Amino acid sequence: MNKLRAIPFILSLLLLLTGCSTRTITIERTDEVMGTIMTLTLCGSSREEASLNNAMDAAFLRLRELEQIFSTTIDDSEINNLNQTAAQTPVAVSDEMFEVLTDALYYAELTDGAFDPTLGRLIALWNIGSATPSVPTDDVLTQEIGRHNYRHIQLDADAQTVTFTSADFSLDLGAIAKGYAADELEDLLTTEYGVKQAILNLGGNVLVIGSKSGNTPWNIGITDPQAPPEAMALVKVSDCSVVTSGDYQRYFESSEGVRYHHILDAATGYPADQGITSVTIITASSMRADALSTALFVLGVEKGLALIESLEDVEAVFISSNNDITLSPGLNTDNFSRLY
Ligand code: AMP
Ligand code: MG
Repeated sequence: MNKLRAIPFILSLLLLLTGCSTRTITIERTDEVMGTIMTLTLCGSSREEASLNNAMDAAFLRLRELEQIFSTTIDDSEINNLNQTAAQTPVAVSDEMFEVLTDALYYAELTDGAFDPTLGRLIALWNIGSATPSVPTDDVLTQEIGRHNYRHIQLDADAQTVTFTSADFSLDLGAIAKGYAADELEDLLTTEYGVKQAILNLGGNVLVIGSKSGNTPWNIGITDPQAPPEAMALVKVSDCSVVTSGDYQRYFESSEGVRYHHILDAATGYPADQGITSVTIITASSMRADALSTALFVLGVEKGLALIESLEDVEAVFISSNNDITLSPGLNTDNFSRLY
């Protein structure tokens, strides 16, 4: 999502989250990290103000560390180093990279490659979200399809190394890294700073810690893909992640007026086109929600629902191009409401 579009989106989301309860203070900070606008809102008692400020500093420092590992737009990032060398020799990687790659391979297998961490070259060809996006020719796309394959990534858990068994692809972890970052922040804030109430909004990738107050859950808005940043539905959650992949988050329009979004279907090389405009996943782990939201956008409603029903404690909200909403079985009037 570009910066200008992201700011109203985040503001509207936060307006819906009617803040922490009255006896607490709220500290909020917004910055651009990993190419997206991130807003952290921490709540606590007024006695905890200094500790909350320290927690906020530590959280943004951690985000910068993770950006240096996972961002493909930072020249000397760990992922770029891996992309340059792992086809020639096994590369020793950080704990973070090893953990994310392990999970990425799991979700690639689970979704039959709908989520595929090896689409880096295809993503770079489209370059959506950059200043210079373009529509690749069919010839180029045809050549590109078949080069990527998550099975070309080999992990050695003992040596904590990564090897690519082909030089014809590159890694892109943009569909999972923000989720991992949200889980990391939750761990840092709760275990090291004792934070009990927070909303971590990493560019639409939301993780809430605790409840709004007592037993009252937080209300998280789901954006209307036809009218962002308007929220068209609310989910009620406590200690949970709510992660959306949508065609309105990053896109560009060609000179012919055709709109192309950033979630690619590895089978065609084009943006996924299953008649849906957003998929929201609701589950405890933000990394799980992130990988699944991208995968389900590619799989579509029917296959996506079948997959969700095979998993425990994961719910999904699909919004279709005509604004129909399809819910997974665990969502009902107790925890979900459509606003219009
Ligand atoms: P998300 O916003 O989490 O759905 O992730 C979208 C981002 O993940 C894109 O900007 C790309 O960097 C990358 N991506 C696009 N399509 C896929 C895909 N099918 N599988 C994995 N990553 C993808
Ligand atoms: Mg994702």
